[in-house]
Amino acid sequence: MTPLNIGLVGLGTVGRGVADILGRGAADIERRAGRPLRVHAALVRDAGRATAWRDERGHRFEILTDADALLDDPDIDIVCELAGGEEPALGWTRRALAGGKHVVTANKALIATHGESLFALAQEHGVSLRFEAAIAGGIPIVKALSEGLAGNRIEWLAGIINGTGNYILSEMTSHGREFADALGDAQALGYAEADPTFDVEGIDAAHKLAILASIAFGAPLEFDGVMTEGISAIERADVAFAAELGYRIKHLGVARRRAEGLELRVHPTLVPAGRLLASVDGVMNAVVVHGDAVGSTLYYGAGAGSGPTGSSVVADLIDIARGSELVPRSPISAPAADNAPLGALAPDDFRSPFYLRLEADDRPGVMAAVAGIFGASDISIEAILQKEPTAAGDGPLTVPIILLTREVRERILREAVVAIEALQAVRTPVVTIRVETLG
Ligand code: NAP
Repeated sequence: MTPLNIGLVGLGTVGRGVADILGRGAADIERRAGRPLRVHAALVRDAGRATAWRDERGHRFEILTDADALLDDPDIDIVCELAGGEEPALGWTRRALAGGKHVVTANKALIATHGESLFALAQEHGVSLRFEAAIAGGIPIVKALSEGLAGNRIEWLAGIINGTGNYILSEMTSHGREFADALGDAQALGYAEADPTFDVEGIDAAHKLAILASIAFGAPLEFDGVMTEGISAIERADVAFAAELGYRIKHLGVARRRAEGLELRVHPTLVPAGRLLASVDGVMNAVVVHGDAVGSTLYYGAGAGSGPTGSSVVADLIDIARGSELVPRSPISAPAADNAPLGALAPDDFRSPFYLRLEADDRPGVMAAVAGIFGASDISIEAILQKEPTAAGDGPLTVPIILLTREVRERILREAVVAIEALQAVRTPVVTIRVETLG
């Protein structure tokens, strides 16, 4: 049977994982795909660093440093874009699609920011553009949403979709460490880049959330519509107070359908300790999807790494070989439960319960003043925690006051926070963290 020839653009962590899986599992993969899948060539920057590859059947492939040689090779049927970054990856992907080659990519930034035009190009040329590996590594969440849950109207989804951030928060929770120490460890262990901005400031998670929301709600890809907050401002004190209240702090991507539009947000979140998502620790990923028929479903697994990410790429390759992707599918044409266009809501219109921590002078009347502000704004309080007074330097004794609100519109909450910070007895800016009950 004619093999399907694959051109690997990149032979790093993911590229090697793909080559390894295709070599190791060749016989099973051929049976499932209906024809052999073979790596024909791989593109790298530094050919000296790429060792020659030989799979179990003794098959070798060529290592190239000239992108044109790979993209123009008529024998290559599928290009796997596993180099990362924006350019030249974007130009290569466009060229491959326009040249009639299917593309499988693990590049979330590319799909989140250029997906609309790339899917249009794939459609125009009758080829597939697949991206399972771009979200949550080895977890087949794209397939679950677009196929397994296709009969549902998705109400919301919430996920831990960045392993680095989850490792840092897990360390802060389990070992009482500060953010900077936990980040240092993540860097030493190779979980975090030297510049960790993309991970800790939520940009990586926002790319993935934009893609998930597009598939789940049939809405246009709107990376700019995702409100993004990182975890670098999370303090050990908040982790401890959250635990006292029965919560754990997780960095979640949340997409929620409202009557008026979609809430698309990435932020640190208090999650009830009893929820499965609260127990997802270390570099692991997990996504909860709530459909109207199925209820809540949970998908858990490794969010990165050679094997897990390679597993998702190979699944896409097998799908293409089976011909199940002869009609290209874009997130936009994925099953939406209704046809109403859902736009991204502005953060002012988001609704959720909130955790607040303020530091106030240890004197009578402060709590009453805070409660009065909440009462005037019609914000209901779920729980209050007042701790022992502490002295900061030569200053007066202050007490930390921790409050949990019921669901409130963000604009109302922010106005109340401004009023609280204006109180003479309140010494520092109010810490606010959203709460998701996942109910
Ligand atoms: P990586 O280890 O840095 O490997 C990148 C590969 O691409 C290397 O072989 C590199 O060549 C090659 N490359 C990069 N720029 C090139 C250029 N201009 N010309 C020729 N070759 C070039 O990256 P990775 O971790 O495998 O990630 C690849 C993609 O998968 C990224 O989009 C990433 O976001 C995504 N992803 C990664 C993971 C993961 O666990 N690593 C998980 C999910 C998604 P050299 O070997 O010569 O440097």
